[in-house]
Amino acid sequence: ILGAPGAGKGTQSKRVAEEFGVQHITTGDILRANKDMETDYGTPREYMDAGELVPDAVVNEIVEKEVGEADGFILDGYPRNLDQAEFLAAITDLDAVLYLDVSESELTRRLTGRRVCSECGDTYHVEFSPAEEAGVCDECGGELVQRDDDTEDVVRERIRVYHENTAPVVEFYRDEGDLV
Ligand code: ADP
Ligand code: ZN
Repeated sequence: ILGAPGAGKGTQSKRVAEEFGVQHITTGDILRANKDMETDYGTPREYMDAGELVPDAVVNEIVEKEVGEADGFILDGYPRNLDQAEFLAAITDLDAVLYLDVSESELTRRLTGRRVCSECGDTYHVEFSPAEEAGVCDECGGELVQRDDDTEDVVRERIRVYHENTAPVVEFYRDEGDLV
């Protein structure tokens, strides 16, 4: 599933995973859970908190392992550039590529207003889907926080990085005829 940051990849791919009984593989969540892991290129945090892409070698290794262990999957947040798309083509065959097309002003509003539960990971929006009690998760009572990279400056950079690196991936799959 492809789309700019804030397009709704996480929300929609979770639904697809449930509906079809396949594994939901999301590189952003895996990286966030391993933010301070030492790699040959430093830690993921150094890239993520600035809105930059984590180096391909790190992400490709994660994806190869997850895809290899899955009996059916939906990939969310990967591939994010043409080199990753080529790596993916070499390790598996895709049935379909879904693209979520959302305007830029809408993306910014969604991301900067997003809040996530620090306990269960549920997502809220201060305006569009607020919690019953401000700052408290409806599901588990956990504290709602803003992701480190959902601040306005970093959001702007993430959208720029998307246009530079990931928009060409959409065109790549469109040319292949796989895009939905
Ligand atoms: P979003 O799609 O909303 O930007 P993600 O949770 O998918 O959020 O990604 C958060 C961050 O994790 C990215 O800004 C980037 O630093 C890193 N990341 C996730 N997936 C990849 C990937 N495929 N390649 C490189 N970096 C990635
Ligand atoms: Zn919660």
